[in-house]
Amino acid sequence: MNDSPDRPENAAQPEKATSPASSDHSVPEAFPTDWTRGLVLVAHPDDPEYGMSAAVARWTAEGRSIVYVLASSGEAGIEGMAPAIAGPIREEEQRRSSAIVGVDEVEFLGFPDSRIVNNAELRDAVADAIRRHRPDVVISLYSGEEFGPGMPNQSDHMEFGAAVGAAYDDLVAAVGVDAAEGRPQMWFESSPEVTHYVDVKGFVEPAVDALAEHSEYLSVLDPETPVRDQARAQVEAVCASREGLAGGNPVVGFRRMRP
Ligand SMILES: [Zn+2]
Repeated sequence: MNDSPDRPENAAQPEKATSPASSDHSVPEAFPTDWTRGLVLVAHPDDPEYGMSAAVARWTAEGRSIVYVLASSGEAGIEGMAPAIAGPIREEEQRRSSAIVGVDEVEFLGFPDSRIVNNAELRDAVADAIRRHRPDVVISLYSGEEFGPGMPNQSDHMEFGAAVGAAYDDLVAAVGVDAAEGRPQMWFESSPEVTHYVDVKGFVEPAVDALAEHSEYLSVLDPETPVRDQARAQVEAVCASREGLAGGNPVVGFRRMRP
């Protein structure tokens, strides 16, 4: 997204990477493996590529099924380009990007980029996506107010994350915690406050390739730096190793939100 691009997510990572278990957080655990179906819910094209696609690449390589559902098509995201033109370009970039990490099912819910609001319509659409895809694990993007001091999150991300939480809780309340169908077992956010990590050794390169597929978007965002260089810098920052985790291998961090 695009009023203020997704950069702060990445700027936050190297700093966090050097202090993994800081302050009141205990040492992160390895991400659970007792699941087969994952649903990634995000606000915009390229959101999965700034934090989780290396983990997704590993999961699909392990035979897990991952589906992406995006609230918007990112149509407001390319400066100087009309939304009617930018939307289809960004959808196509997202499809190519997703395919690189083994995700062939990508849905766009059609909510307005940069004007996403946690309202009943959005919560219903999210709940519907969860019911249709029946994931074991829901993974969404960071909904907290800031990635770090002075690095505020975007409104779309916060509103969307809140909608995912509300939809998850409503489904649990309606279907019950023991129902096998229609209720995700777990909900994680991509987050600077990490409770769980995925060892992504061997999966950083596909994540770089995936982000580089957003070439139209990135080339407008930063015309000076080659797209692939931008992608590598971002992904390597996100996937930095964390002291004491995964034997020094690159990791992607998540925060467990439910249960
Ligand atoms: Zn975004």
